[in-house]
Amino acid sequence: MSVIDIDDVSKAYGEVQALDGLSLSVDRGTTLGVFGTNGAGKTTLFKLLAGLNRPDSGEVTVAGGDPTETAVRGRIRYLPEDAGFPPNLTGREILRFHARVRSTPAERREHHVERVLDTVGLTAAADRRVGGYSNGMNRRLGLGTALVGRPEILVLDEPTAGLDPEGIRAFHEVIESLSNETDVTIVFASHALSEIERLCTDAAVVVDGDVAVAGPVESLRCAAGDAVTVRLT
Ligand code: ATP
Repeated sequence: MSVIDIDDVSKAYGEVQALDGLSLSVDRGTTLGVFGTNGAGKTTLFKLLAGLNRPDSGEVTVAGGDPTETAVRGRIRYLPEDAGFPPNLTGREILRFHARVRSTPAERREHHVERVLDTVGLTAAADRRVGGYSNGMNRRLGLGTALVGRPEILVLDEPTAGLDPEGIRAFHEVIESLSNETDVTIVFASHALSEIERLCTDAAVVVDGDVAVAGPVESLRCAAGDAVTVRLT
């Protein structure tokens, strides 16, 4: 059953046609890798899914509703590529704040924050100020904030871009353990086909604001390579 339905969506910024009649459907429990060159339209697509933007035309349905509606927004978490945190707060304080915002019941909040810290491998650093966190730790904290409240749909914009190999490995472990939870749908953008092959059940290749190819990841290896080759030549 699909949890994300994007139907013939277009979006322009002035003269720039960021999305051009893009359609895509994502089943519940899928881990979808979105591959595309710089400027292909991935971030624009993710902002539509997160309800931060509206399409100029076409329709976006997430969890059966319009993602700009509050009830739907509560079921999806969007982690932008450049998520930043107040440097003077600790990782635990930031996750507590998110738990409060997400209305986690007070009596369960501490336990929930502990579990999220453990999931993203930040228990030992929980009481350090995030200004002293490495880039990888920051990204994992970002993922932690997205996990607070057990969302159904995670949309992560290039979560491993610019990370060192250790940070990438740690991030992959978190995504792999989440993908095992069959009710969680994960959509993430990446420039690395190897990462998509490793982590994803499905993939979509976005070229010039449209989906060039999409389907189960094992069926797409050649097609994705072709689409990117076409784009680059
Ligand atoms: P990247 O991999 O570099 O993040 P992307 O695939 O996420 O790229 P988008 O950020 O969605 O691509 O951008 C798609 C196109 O829309 C690009 O040409 C970009 O320059 C343009 N664009 C995106 N946001 C804006 C904006 N706010 N104003 C004007 N143009 C924009």
